[in-house]
Amino acid sequence: MADAAKRPRSVAAETESGTGVETGADAGTGADPDLNHVLRSAAQRIDELRATIRFHSQLYYEADAPEIPDAEFDALLRELADLEAEFPELITPDSPTQVVGGSASATFAPVEHRVPMMSLDNVFSATELQGWGERLARRLDELGSTVEQAGLVAELKIDGLAISIRYENGALVQAATRGDGRVGEDVTANVRTIASVPHQLPASAPAVLEVRGEIYMPIATFTELNRAQAAAGERLYANPRNTAAGSLRQKDAAVTASRGLAFWSYQLGEVVGGPELRSHHDTFALLGELGFPVNPEVVVLTDLDEVDAHCQRWQQQRHDLDYEIDGIVIKVDDLALQRQLGATAKAPRWAIAYKFPPEERTTRLLDIGISIGRTGRATPYAQLEPVFVGGSTVAMATLHNQDQVARKDVRPGDIVIVRKAGDVIPEVVGPVLSERPEGLRAWVFPTDCPVCGHRLQRPEGEADHRCPNLTCPARVAGAIEHFASRGAMDIEGLGEQRVQQFCELGLLADVGDVYTLDEASLLAIDKFQQRSARKLLDAIAASRSRPLDRLLVGLNIRHLAGAGSQALAAHFGHLDAIAAASVEELAAVEGVGVVIATSVAEWFADPVNRAVIDKLRAAGVNLEGPAPSELPQTLTGLTIVVTGTLPGYTRAEAEAAITDRGGKSPGSVSKRTDALVIGAEPGASKVTRATELGIPVLDADGFERLLATGRVPTPDEGGS
Ligand code: NAD
Repeated sequence: MADAAKRPRSVAAETESGTGVETGADAGTGADPDLNHVLRSAAQRIDELRATIRFHSQLYYEADAPEIPDAEFDALLRELADLEAEFPELITPDSPTQVVGGSASATFAPVEHRVPMMSLDNVFSATELQGWGERLARRLDELGSTVEQAGLVAELKIDGLAISIRYENGALVQAATRGDGRVGEDVTANVRTIASVPHQLPASAPAVLEVRGEIYMPIATFTELNRAQAAAGERLYANPRNTAAGSLRQKDAAVTASRGLAFWSYQLGEVVGGPELRSHHDTFALLGELGFPVNPEVVVLTDLDEVDAHCQRWQQQRHDLDYEIDGIVIKVDDLALQRQLGATAKAPRWAIAYKFPPEERTTRLLDIGISIGRTGRATPYAQLEPVFVGGSTVAMATLHNQDQVARKDVRPGDIVIVRKAGDVIPEVVGPVLSERPEGLRAWVFPTDCPVCGHRLQRPEGEADHRCPNLTCPARVAGAIEHFASRGAMDIEGLGEQRVQQFCELGLLADVGDVYTLDEASLLAIDKFQQRSARKLLDAIAASRSRPLDRLLVGLNIRHLAGAGSQALAAHFGHLDAIAAASVEELAAVEGVGVVIATSVAEWFADPVNRAVIDKLRAAGVNLEGPAPSELPQTLTGLTIVVTGTLPGYTRAEAEAAITDRGGKSPGSVSKRTDALVIGAEPGASKVTRATELGIPVLDADGFERLLATGRVPTPDEGGS
């Protein structure tokens, strides 16, 4: 468990409903002093935990602005449950372990739920899931049934907020939040604005129907909302779940309407009339027939091994969805058995939530550093007390730029929330304000480059600071590292640390020096083995013959990346021709705009850069354009765009198949496009654009024919 959850909080002193065990110095004068001591400290911790949990519940359910990640809230609740299991005499009926979290606020009119809206019990690992399965099997056995007979339904656990929507005679009459499970808040006007919630049901609908489900914000909507916030210089929203909750619980329904909320139905509350339902999956069928959105990933499973495999699979795939899920909910399918299994005060016994490992944790922000990149960009980054999150230990995270630090208001010394989702790079979400030590000062962007001491510059209208010193050691090292990287000259063994070391030793001052490294100078370095030296020198030698476009990438010319480099190399055929070209000539090449052309021309005009080119030339580095392809140049003059995945090709390979035959393969469809090749899961906008412009569209077979013949078929011949 990370920091914020472990530390007893000051709020613990405000405990409302204590354990009733005195925790003062003179308490507990019973017979066994040791036992009394244990009981006293358990009672004290229980009081602390309850107060802390209530504090965070209030922030989460009422303010829609939690301070700590869910995983840490869950850990607090789990610690409380474990202590209560050990000391059952300390359980109170209002303990957070015994009641549904949340309460109805005074902002909305109260709505009493005719059928309570319950929470779910949680498991956090495959072993715990197995334990639940065994308990379920025992209970079913007592009822004369088995797991196989009862059946199980697995659903995605949508990370939104629960809602109950009531229909009478087919018309939507009321919508309420969960609240404390018995009384929720009337948010009817707001729910009516959600496009996927039907207002009127077909005539076949039961006379009274309460549909329960989850309101959520799709990730794309959330991203767009935050993009607009950033553009307006406003504070960013923390995550889709809280934003969905905040958007729904608005006084003004027009605000809710503008937020693009969505809905998945998964349960029924009160039902009067309608068909008899025997199973939970019958419920889904009915919901679908009545026009409610039903999540397509709901599956019926027969045993716990299948459930386990299903949970593991979704744990890996959770980021493939356009909405957030935080686990899998498993429910008993047979409704009669559900009723017999019943519920605790808080949650049904016929369901369990398998929660995924956390992707958000808290840790301490030790300091904010500045790294200087190869273009001089000065990027602030968080130095963190290492924390295991999202599958790896995170000790650093980028903070992007000055405005981001200010917007997030993170200060060295803060406890911060760190998020790492899937393969995405770790991010600092924000501070836990209630944990902020007193007097912590806001962080100030340094005025000088931490590496060379030059004054940093932030050009007007730009978000980034830059170190303007071309010979700043950090810039030089970054540029050499980039030259040696995979996408450029691909010199294995010349990574960040070695480049740094060689620069410090004076062996490298620019990329031209890479080819002056020799065995003697390498072996003079402490602990440098002969074998490593040979390997590195071989890799450097091999890089001499890289194609011209890779060399261009390696030269670190601002704005010039892979596609532009390929276009220039193919068009001019020699580095000297590119160096001699005017801005106009450069900009005339397809795929190279004025911005790139200007940057390239300026780069070659600089005598320092020309000196580097001379060094490369003297070292025998290839400066010539692509070797004429041996393939027949069937596509010369044609522009073919590829979208989606084609069998047997990666995207890069499909594009290379076109350029190797003399064609062009830009990333977007325009009037100049001769054909669009579509594979599996194509980009919708490209297909739409091609259709609008009347451009022939080819499938995988059509693509093969095109490569072979170079002929773009007319629509009659199969080019639709
Ligand atoms: P829960 O979220 O673990 O489970 C119950 C809820 O799951 C239901 O009410 C429903 O809204 C939702 N759900 C999603 N998909 C579902 C499906 N297919 N079927 C049924 N229900 C589905 O429990 P809870 O009692 O709502 O609250 C606990 C949650 O809130 C935890 O995730 C907890 O971490 C979080 N929380 C966080 C803080 C904090 O400070 N970070 C504070 C309070 C609560």
